[in-house]
Amino acid sequence: MRDTLAALINLQDVDCELRALEQSKGDLPQRIASLNREIAQLEESIAEKHDQLKTSRLGRESGALEVASLRDKLKKYQNQLYQVKTNKEYDAITLEIETTQSAIENREFEMLEMEEREKQLHSEIEGLQPGLAELQGQRDEAESRLQAMLAVTRAKEERLQQQRQEIVARIPRPVYSTYERTRIGRGGIAVAFLKEGSCSQCSTRIPPQRGLEIRMMNHLFLCEVCGRIMLYDPERMTVCEGHQQ
Ligand SMILES: [Zn+2]
Repeated sequence: MRDTLAALINLQDVDCELRALEQSKGDLPQRIASLNREIAQLEESIAEKHDQLKTSRLGRESGALEVASLRDKLKKYQNQLYQVKTNKEYDAITLEIETTQSAIENREFEMLEMEEREKQLHSEIEGLQPGLAELQGQRDEAESRLQAMLAVTRAKEERLQQQRQEIVARIPRPVYSTYERTRIGRGGIAVAFLKEGSCSQCSTRIPPQRGLEIRMMNHLFLCEVCGRIMLYDPERMTVCEGHQQ
């Protein structure tokens, strides 16, 4: 059991280093994800405006064709006006001319409104572009910082994982299960040292008799308060020493 408990100390040290590596990435991964969400929203809003522009342009094109055909019609009515023989015919054609003229005016007015709206859309798109470029710049910068960090830490992480496997192979399965369950449930720290008669992690006083037993390192004891595996090493007082916590 003594060897097993000593292996647990080594395992915890490796896990502390792995945890510090993970923490060194900081909030970069989350930051990149949130920048990507903002970028997607802006891009969607710009794409919507481009769609509106396209619809408006098509509307103006068909409006222009309609106006051209209305003008042809108008010309025909105006020519007919010189050939009329009765007042009734004259009135009828005059009415047609007026109706056609007002249809042309309406169409032209609609087209002007569309043109105005297009100008507005253009300026809205232009207004959004700098913000988008800014976000993309921030995202690319965070991404390359993360990649650089990963390039440095990858080799170290692989070495630590290798060490970890070697240590785990020396620990009986049930003890390792207890270790893992505690590590995951207790913020990455599965072990505690007996430190001046107390648990180094939660400071609970350990009864002197139990303290003696822990010092022997012959049995696996758990702290009754924080549940961590109690170990003793006169050289060690803290877990994850020198690592970010
Ligand atoms: Zn404790």
